Amino acid sequence: MIKVNIATAKGFNPGELKKVEVAKQVLNKILNNEKFRDGVLKFTTDGLFRFHYRRSFLGNYIDKPYTNKQVYEIITQNSGEDEIKQVDLNLELLPGGDVDDLGYTNPDTKRIYTHRNWFNNLTLPEYVGHLTHEWCHQLGFNHSNRLAQHVESSVPFGVGSITENITMDY
Ligand SMILES: [Zn+2]
Repeated sequence: MIKVNIATAKGFNPGELKKVEVAKQVLNKILNNEKFRDGVLKFTTDGLFRFHYRRSFLGNYIDKPYTNKQVYEIITQNSGEDEIKQVDLNLELLPGGDVDDLGYTNPDTKRIYTHRNWFNNLTLPEYVGHLTHEWCHQLGFNHSNRLAQHVESSVPFGVGSITENITMDY
């Protein structure tokens, strides 16, 4: 089992913290849910059960091309039914948000930054998707820029859309 924990939350007011708390609870449920497992295992890119991994000009992989099963295991940390693996999220709200990106992750400090304007405009499913996306970066998954082909099929965007879609059903 995976247990999502908000280790730190900087810059949020009490109302905003409520949204964080609800998102945490929803994400916690989803990560331990069969629907999430199926979503990752059955994710397809160009009709194949895989995510999109970048390649260099010479055709070498830039990102390690994991199988869907490996992606699922990395995300759930191979935790079994009766074993609890905790995921610590360190969140921080940044002022403003008149920028293209909702936020970003600092891979060194493992801190997830979100711009306040974006945060307040995101629906709960979108915010859950955003947290998932940034958390995938923490786990070492990456993607090319937004406009590149197949970027939506990268692990961060792909898995983020899976949790976003499942949240809509709650
Ligand atoms: Zn990203």
